[in-house]
Amino acid sequence: MIVDRQGRRFRNLRVSLTAACNYACTYCVPDGKRLVAAQDELSADAMVRGVAYLIEAAGIERLRVTGGEPLVSPKLETFLRGVGQLGLNDISLTSNGQLLSRKLPLLVECGIRRLNLSLDTLDAAAFRSIARGGDLATVLAGMDEARVAGLKIKVNMVPLRGQNLDQVLPLLDYCLERGFELRFIELMRMGHLARDGNGFLQQFVGMPELLAMIGERHGFTQADAPVDATALRYEIPGRGFFGVIANESVPFCRTCSRLRLSSTGWLHGCLSSSNRHYVGDLLDKPRHQALPALQRLLVKALGDKQDVAFSGGATVMKIIGG
Ligand code: SAM
Repeated sequence: MIVDRQGRRFRNLRVSLTAACNYACTYCVPDGKRLVAAQDELSADAMVRGVAYLIEAAGIERLRVTGGEPLVSPKLETFLRGVGQLGLNDISLTSNGQLLSRKLPLLVECGIRRLNLSLDTLDAAAFRSIARGGDLATVLAGMDEARVAGLKIKVNMVPLRGQNLDQVLPLLDYCLERGFELRFIELMRMGHLARDGNGFLQQFVGMPELLAMIGERHGFTQADAPVDATALRYEIPGRGFFGVIANESVPFCRTCSRLRLSSTGWLHGCLSSSNRHYVGDLLDKPRHQALPALQRLLVKALGDKQDVAFSGGATVMKIIGG
């Protein structure tokens, strides 16, 4: 097993199935142009082999399928069926939910039991201005269908000053009523936001402010979370849970166990590092040749992790998956 001086190792793998997305969220894409799939994206079979090799070489236990938007990818079915055979403890999927109704039967059939769905507002006009694509009513309908189908749902919201702060409490109520766990994700200095410090600071809302807003309406206490969890979890007694992923306010680099594989075959050990390591060519090689080379790259990827805190990254989240 590859372990660093701080005792960190890779346990959780996030695979970006495609860089293509049907949204162009303001904090993710600077120019509003939706990203399309890269010319050199790996095939579904190569990506399944990549996951299999990484389970062996790095000790991956849990997989999250993300993007771009994974539900737009033609590789989705082959990939999910393939990774479903690999004996992982947990496979979940992150999506904006736009195509959820249509893809739900496939997800259920492929054994997906947990979804992280991004939803920044319940206001249709604000939704259009943040996501720059999609339709709110369709997303909400898909979420309800997934709930009825018995999937466990976490909802991701990025609070943005001047855009959706009035939605913190309505979204929390909406999620509590449905048994969804709302996760507030502090805005991260990624892509254009890493270059535009003022733009970042104008929009950023930190955990203390969020908790104060919630505290005016609800009493809550801190709840247990796994050691390498990114979110701090809180319980509102009798109502349910919510979480805050506080990249800036309470950095979690010291316990980070995440590894990312991009749709074009690059390994990223840290969102805050511009280093990446190409493994696409190894995935066509037999196991005995691929694993030693992969292990050497994993040592480098683990070395890319920040010691203490996330300090920003030039990479766009859509490229490597959130
Ligand atoms: N398309 C899928 C979705 O919308 O969930 C998966 C990919 S998206 C990049 C994954 C998550 O990253 C979303 O919840 C999104 O809100 C979040 N995200 C993207 N850019 C971010 C940023 N700069 N700061 C914080 N969260 C960000």
